[in-house]
Amino acid sequence: MFDVIIVGNGPAGISAALYACRGGLKTLVIGRDFGSLSKADKIENYYGFEQPIVGEELIQTGIKQAKRLGVTLITSEVVGVSYENNYLIKTNDEHYSATSVILATGSTRSVPVIHGLTNFEGRGISYCAECDAFFYRGKDVAVLGDGHYALHEAQALLPLAKSVTLLTNGANPKVTIPETISVNEKKLLAFHGTDVLDSVKFQDDTTQTLSGVFIAVGVAGSDDLARKLGAQTSGTKIVINERMETNLPGLYAAGDCTGGMLQIAKAVYEGAMAGREAIKYIKKH
Ligand SMILES: Cc1cc2nc3c(=O)[nH]c(=O)nc-3n(C[C@H](O)[C@H](O)[C@H](O)COP(=O)(O)OP(=O)(O)OC[C@H]3O[C@@H](n4cnc5c(N)ncnc54)[C@H](O)[C@@H]3O)c2cc1C
Repeated sequence: MFDVIIVGNGPAGISAALYACRGGLKTLVIGRDFGSLSKADKIENYYGFEQPIVGEELIQTGIKQAKRLGVTLITSEVVGVSYENNYLIKTNDEHYSATSVILATGSTRSVPVIHGLTNFEGRGISYCAECDAFFYRGKDVAVLGDGHYALHEAQALLPLAKSVTLLTNGANPKVTIPETISVNEKKLLAFHGTDVLDSVKFQDDTTQTLSGVFIAVGVAGSDDLARKLGAQTSGTKIVINERMETNLPGLYAAGDCTGGMLQIAKAVYEGAMAGREAIKYIKKH
């Protein structure tokens, strides 16, 4: 049991961890990779470096700093989150619990550009199996994706849906798919329906009848995780106040996932604020 679990080990997550840990909280950071900074090969607008610094070097230094202070860091992908007296965080191989959570997974991956997808959002296209599975009980549904997150969403649908298909859109599944879930690897062309979604069309001109398709491409972003908990989002951004609080007690968000200026300085500030607020929250509980 941790006081705080931070999802994301970019500048926002690590900055939050530095404050939380130095404030006496038992702190766990779960990160999948080095995030946006791994793509930045020259940073020269962040305070304290005379010469340009490579993004990955900056993040690795932050991680070493957090470890030195006693933060527990693990490399894993968070696929689910729920609340039952405490926050429960599910990775692809473990469960962790904490009194509070800071979401800091960076900006959300883009939604695939497939004809008709946005037309049916909320009318057959969903981004959260745990939130919407009930509406599709007894129906044929699919999950669009090919990794751990897609498998997690498909498994959440299995108890209620008539059938669950994984649509990989031309890719090979990156994880082992149980026999209870069908796999369709064909490339998608379009989503069809009149008022609501009723089928998907593939590039080979075939169609599959479906009442719902759950989008789970890539990894779960902060907004996906926030939505699973019932936290307020606006588009792909998490809605927070000036203290990085979401509308749920003990749940904070920081960095690119809250929108605004997508820069290291802002991520570090929001992480620090979220860490500090988590300390206050834990002290009250
Ligand atoms: C090419 C490029 C150049 C840039 N150059 C600059 C620059 O010069 N100056 C500047 O200020 N900013 C720059 N930026 C922006 C900067 O990188 C971001 O604003 C900053 O990294 C945001 O920090 P973050 O912690 O919010 O998100 P990120 O750094 O993206 O970190 C997100 C973290 O969440 C983890 N994660 C995501 N999903 C999951 C999951 N489901 N489970 C577990 N972990 C997960 C990732 O592994 C990662 O560790 C650049 C960005 C890019 C792409």
